[in-house]
Amino acid sequence: MKCPICTHLCQYFDDLSSRVGYYHCHRCALIFKSPEHYQDFDAQKKRYDLHQNDEEDAGYRAYFGRFLDFVLPRVPGVRNALDYGCGATSLLASMLEEEGVACDSYDPIYHPDPAYREKRYDLIVSVEVFEHLHHPEEVFSELLEGLRPGGYLAIQTQFHPDSESQFLKWYYRLDPTHIFFFRPETFHYLAERYGCRYIGDDGEKVVVIQKDRSRAET
Ligand SMILES: [Zn+2]
Repeated sequence: MKCPICTHLCQYFDDLSSRVGYYHCHRCALIFKSPEHYQDFDAQKKRYDLHQNDEEDAGYRAYFGRFLDFVLPRVPGVRNALDYGCGATSLLASMLEEEGVACDSYDPIYHPDPAYREKRYDLIVSVEVFEHLHHPEEVFSELLEGLRPGGYLAIQTQFHPDSESQFLKWYYRLDPTHIFFFRPETFHYLAERYGCRYIGDDGEKVVVIQKDRSRAET
């Protein structure tokens, strides 16, 4: 099967105990679950309902705090933002507001307000969303369109261990709604392909990319 991000031919490997198969791209480092294991919308929603946390939970706040601690120093001057795939919570949006950044929220299940498509943002954040998407490159491209020239895209998704044997032992792949697994190399590839600047990653799960300043607004 071809890599849905870079079209390179991928290698198949599988988990002998569960029979779940994966494809590994050796050009952009993407790993993705074989499509027959993707879940339908209702099954995904049931799983997401379990995920939802109390906004007052101190641990949840600390979790977003760590994300913002990495991102905010790398995105100077941002005044408005979109939280793409926020889930049932608006906690990350409120934490950005506390930092002086006006923030909209969008989620296809819990906040399905398409108004964000008409706006342009200085910053789009997307935390633990990309591993769930069925067409991550389309969403990446769509989010870039939602940025002003010079705007930033900050994505959190756990980077996979770059070995198939380690991958099969990795807890993150076991969530049945996780289907795409990335590495910094995958985001380097996407950034280059879309003419963006790769600002940096934390080596673990967060990456910041900047849209070309000269790219025309659409
Ligand atoms: Zn690839």
